[in-house]
This record gives sequence, C-alpha cells and structure tokens, in this order.
Amino acid sequence: MIELKSVAVFCASSNDANPSYIDLAQRVGQRLAHEQIGLVYGGGHSGLMGAVAQATMEAGGEVTGVIPGGLFSNGIPEDEVTTLEVVADMHQRKARMYELSDGFVGLPGGLGTFEEVFEAATWTQLGLHAGGRSKTIVLLDEDGFWDGAHALLDKATASGVLTKTNRPIIQGASTIDEALQILRADRANDLPQFVTDKHNNGA
Ligand code: AMP
Repeated sequence: MIELKSVAVFCASSNDANPSYIDLAQRVGQRLAHEQIGLVYGGGHSGLMGAVAQATMEAGGEVTGVIPGGLFSNGIPEDEVTTLEVVADMHQRKARMYELSDGFVGLPGGLGTFEEVFEAATWTQLGLHAGGRSKTIVLLDEDGFWDGAHALLDKATASGVLTKTNRPIIQGASTIDEALQILRADRANDLPQFVTDKHNNGA
C-alpha cells in the first residue's frame, strides 16, 4: 500500500462530453478533496478537466494545473486553482504531471487523454518515472467507456506483443472506491520485474 498524496487525472477537454462523464469527473474531484489527495491535471477550464478541478476546489481540496504557456486559450484562471504551473511545451507538461503524481486516473476522454494514459504507462514500463517508480494507471468509467481499450490490451497480451507482466500497469475500475484501492495497492510498483522482464525479453 502506498500513501496517495497526489493523483493525476487525464480526461476530456470537450464541452460536448456526455453529462454523466462530467458528473463522474465532479465526483472524482470531491472524493480527492475529501481524502486530502491533491489533484494534478492539465490546467484546462473546459469539459471534464474543468469539472474535476472546480469540484476539487469547491470541496476544499488542492489542485495543481500544469499548462503549456500560450498553447491553450481555455486555460483555467490562476485564482481558480491552488497552483498553476506554466511550462514550455507539451513534453514538459506531461513530464511534470507524472513527476507530481503517485498514480494516474484516466476518465473518458479523446486523443489527448489516450496519449497521456498510454505515455504514462510506457514510462512505467521503461522505469522512467522519478526514482524508477512504476506508477499504476486506472481507467475509470461507469458505462464501459474503456472496454475497447482493455480489449486491445488483452489482445496485445494474448498475441505476445505486450508482456503479461506489463499488462497490469493499466487497470480498470467502475467505481471511484475501486480506482483508489487499485492506486493505493500500486501493483505496478510492487512488481519491479516489469522493467527486468522487458529487458530479458528484449522488448
Ligand atoms: P482530449 O482527451 O483530447 O480532450 O485531451 C485532454 C487531455 O489533453 C487533458 O488531460 C490535457 O492534459 C490535454 N489537453 C487537451 N486539450 C487541452 C486544453 N484545451 N487545455 C488543457 N489541456 C488540454
């Protein structure tokens, strides 16, 4: 079990998102605040991003937004988060978000969310997170949104292109309770053979 001080949430910036996804993002934010787990996110004001950040703040939690200067016009105003870090570009932003977080939650999202989820997972696979820590990624949905991603990961594992030891780096949860439980168990970090196996397999 690890202490979760901060969790990064990757999620949609779209305002057209299904209202039930916005609602889930708000409940995640409230729960993080109640559990005194800091939220790290991409610093946006729209969609699920804005919803999770605002809900965390309203519930008395801590929010760190990490946003590349000048890239997005819909950044959150500085006084609406606890800390707003402005970085040079998308690469620095992702590296900083990973550095600040003990684990990752992927909520429903589009291409940006997919990219972050899979990049964070590959950093665990390669042992690139700070201190070589292998951080877990939980895909959280209440309606099977992520089923297709899990099906792809399972197919990749069955086909031998994703090693069985690396498959649990990305896990799934259908409740916020379950997601936090998985992050606290931090199974990815309990299995340092992820990295070793990868090298042994020449992957
Ligand atoms: P998407 O799922 O394509 O909406 O992308 C959302 C993810 O990409 C978020 O987790 C952000 O880190 C990043 N992102 C995409 N668009 C924005 C935006 N307008 N403002 C801030 N971050 C964004």
